Amino acid sequence: MPLTESAPLVIAVDGPAAVGKGTLARRLAAHYGLRHLDTGLLYRATALRVLRAGGDPEVETEAAAAANAITDADLDDPALRDQIVGDAASVVGTHPAVRRALLHLQRAFAARAPGAVLDGRDIGTVVCPDARVKFYLEATTEVRAARRLCELRSRGAESIESHVLEEIIARDARDRRRSAAPMKPAADACRIDTSALGPNDVFEQAVAIVDARLSSA
Ligand code: C5P
Repeated sequence: MPLTESAPLVIAVDGPAAVGKGTLARRLAAHYGLRHLDTGLLYRATALRVLRAGGDPEVETEAAAAANAITDADLDDPALRDQIVGDAASVVGTHPAVRRALLHLQRAFAARAPGAVLDGRDIGTVVCPDARVKFYLEATTEVRAARRLCELRSRGAESIESHVLEEIIARDARDRRRSAAPMKPAADACRIDTSALGPNDVFEQAVAIVDARLSSA
């Protein structure tokens, strides 16, 4: 469906680790001619800066300084996908000062025409509460761990299934329990359980929802 409106179209895709947010967000962006931002990369880049400087992700001032120093080049580093960086990202993400530093980057990205698809944990609730369409993806922990294991092994990483499962459980708990912008579905989010769905099924369901929203405008 062509976009005829002048206001940027913003689509939020939230949900826990390894639920398929990135795949859906990339495909929606390509389909609707929008830009895409994987906001997890901002938290990962913050964590990587702290780790490389020999700092401690638990220390808010160090993490906030790293968040304020992020440049576009930081987001291309292959080390961002390492499991240790994902863990540290969920620690730096608990700090309000880090979230404040990254908030304006995300909002500025969303505000540029023709609009954007942002995926993360708090896009529909905090970053873009006025997003035109909000998705919250869910899947069982076991299904997500199996997907993450496949992804890690396809990148040649040595991973043990039980460790991946533990890491996902720990990260979910930290993301849900933190007081600053905890991971949760927005009240007006469309929830899709992807446990038994392939990427094409999820994409088709999401497109049907976006098209219906656009044609009801
Ligand atoms: O999505 P990804 O696994 O790359 O995110 C890494 C971590 O960054 C998450 O576990 C979460 O703690 C944090 N994050 C966040 N808010 C976002 C995106 C990611 O707190 N919008």
